[in-house]
Amino acid sequence: MLRGLAKRMSPGMSRFRLFSAHWRPVLRRQPHGVTDVALTFDDGPSPVTTVAVLEMLARANAKATFFLTGTRVLAYPELVRAIIDEGHAVYGHGWEHVHLEEAGPAAALEAMQRVEGLLAQFRPTPSLYLIRLPYNDGFRRAWMHEAMARFHPNACFAWWTISTQDYRLADGCATLEQLEARCKALGERMRQIRHLPGSIVLLHEDPFGAPGALAPRVSELMLPHVLSAIAARGAKCGLVQPEASAMRNRWFFAPLRGDQMI
Ligand SMILES: [Zn+2]
Repeated sequence: MLRGLAKRMSPGMSRFRLFSAHWRPVLRRQPHGVTDVALTFDDGPSPVTTVAVLEMLARANAKATFFLTGTRVLAYPELVRAIIDEGHAVYGHGWEHVHLEEAGPAAALEAMQRVEGLLAQFRPTPSLYLIRLPYNDGFRRAWMHEAMARFHPNACFAWWTISTQDYRLADGCATLEQLEARCKALGERMRQIRHLPGSIVLLHEDPFGAPGALAPRVSELMLPHVLSAIAARGAKCGLVQPEASAMRNRWFFAPLRGDQMI
């Protein structure tokens, strides 16, 4: 009876559902004892950023995790191939860059199936699937956890420890010099974060809807400062490592604390 009732509830009402057999883990940082910083790039691939980003990561001997948008995967398959050939991890970031909480569970499931259908042509579907939807939608919603559990039996939401807010960095910037100064300051702030080692860091490639004409240039200007900050703290950049104990815990509640914005 409860299941029937749940099915009749709209997505908007389902925020009140606390119990579900399908809560998936929500990762906020690397497992205890892992000091590698997990750089994560949303919204790519992009002809403006991806090649430069890959070159900088290679020079720093860094591995990163890319959450790719379906329409851009379709448009730039050679960039997807380049990311994978460099040993980075790729997952879907929806099909179009839209709010899937508003679209509902069927649309969210379809968006992820569609993007992964393309990505699976480049590499085998991972046995554990990191989920990050556009605008980080859905990880507090039981119905989205259920939809993602249907998408992949080992789905796991990848939130983050630190948001660089890089999508705001070019707002009001008139020149590349101004933007460069902001990127440098961000790197300095990042270097001061006590829990930087072992963190998951949110970055973007050519972010959708970012204000400022120079927004697509942020990745290439900011990444050197991010890599320097991590190196200065004696840490390396590695892939997101889901914790085995978290994956066994099906009754998982999304953490209530927010992320750190820098
Ligand atoms: Zn995004």
